Amino acid sequence: MKAEILSIGDELVHGATVDTNAAEIARALLRCDIEVERVSVVSDRFADITGAIRDAMSRCDLLMITGGLGPTQDDITRDGIAAALDLPLEMDAPTLERIEARFASLGRPMPESNRVQALVPRGGEAIDNDRGTAPGLWVETGSQCIVAMPGVPREMRHLLEDRVLPRLDRRQGSACCYHERLVHTFGHGESFIAEQVGDLFQRDGEVRVSITVRTGVTTLAVRSQGTKAVHVREAVDGLAELIVERLGKWVFGRDGASLEATVVGALKASGRTVATAESCTGGLLAELLTSIPGSSAAFEAGFITYANEAKTRQLGVPADLIAAHGAVSEPVAAAMAEGARRIAQADFGLGITGIAGPDGGTPEKPVGLIYVACADEEGVRVRECRFSGDRALNRQLAARTALDLLRRRLARESPSS
Ligand code: AMP
Ligand code: MG
Repeated sequence: MKAEILSIGDELVHGATVDTNAAEIARALLRCDIEVERVSVVSDRFADITGAIRDAMSRCDLLMITGGLGPTQDDITRDGIAAALDLPLEMDAPTLERIEARFASLGRPMPESNRVQALVPRGGEAIDNDRGTAPGLWVETGSQCIVAMPGVPREMRHLLEDRVLPRLDRRQGSACCYHERLVHTFGHGESFIAEQVGDLFQRDGEVRVSITVRTGVTTLAVRSQGTKAVHVREAVDGLAELIVERLGKWVFGRDGASLEATVVGALKASGRTVATAESCTGGLLAELLTSIPGSSAAFEAGFITYANEAKTRQLGVPADLIAAHGAVSEPVAAAMAEGARRIAQADFGLGITGIAGPDGGTPEKPVGLIYVACADEEGVRVRECRFSGDRALNRQLAARTALDLLRRRLARESPSS
């Protein structure tokens, strides 16, 4: 099934309001195995609306519209639908009664302008709205279907969840299947990952792969839709597993996995604990770890040691080590990780020290230079990172690099994980 979304409103094209409805509708349709192929935004101009509806109907089976169903002059979506489909608008008596009753329950007479909200293109139906006066519209023409919902997000959500999705689900039965698998990697950008696995899929194949990156986590999304559920699932799962095999140790999880949940899970599975020592990340690493429910079984303690004296006093980092190498250095990162491990009596210690920016860089130690260390009973491993983000991104990348160091340390022991 080819589905599109059309968001209508001057405020959306001008950028005054962000089109959150389209994102919500697209996500919700996936739950009904309907993958949206195009999202368009048009102004409240009549010609723009009718043009966009005609265009969409030349391509798709299902058009979801949001916005422009109110009672005012600028709300002309219902006129646009009627004109685009060449259907007259007719007064729907039960809908008019419902709108009148809604005003009566609020103790107010219905303004004359609200009458237009009971107009329905011939052959179509109004969709009851319990949260406002603007009903939605459901219009079928042949095998195609237009569903229009109000723009106010809470009203749109109500119609979508309570009225539209159940009906769409029934309408299409098991005629269509959508399947998606996510593969998450850390530490390499989109182009590097694409180089490793690009040959496994075609750009326009039946199974599509997209690559996105967010705070160092590069995710491959493998997706397909079709009429045979088994085939769609096999094709998507098969390709996702090939990708996982090829990318090997860079993959930390699938689907809903996060780096922090993966690390906490691996620690708990091996019955061990971690302590953290953070300078430039100021507790971000501890926050990531403790955001996972049940992390108390794996997280021993977190030290935020910003000043040199704090590193010495709280973690036992020798003052002359800091004097000799500087606080941002490989030996100090190592000593922080070892100190956290020893003092908190944890199995692992993670240390982070660096220059997050925007100030504080020198030619030898530029902004973005961050050392991340992982200590265990055998010793300590330090990774030197040179990030090029802003302060917030550099801190995020540093905290996640520490998680990834520990994840890889744990994965080396249990190759099955
Ligand atoms: P309308 O139904 O077009 O009268 O829209 C009513 C209000 O809902 C607008 O003033 C916007 O604040 C909001 N709105 C309309 N369309 C959207 C949308 N696509 N996403 C988020 N908010 C919207
Ligand atoms: Mg509007």
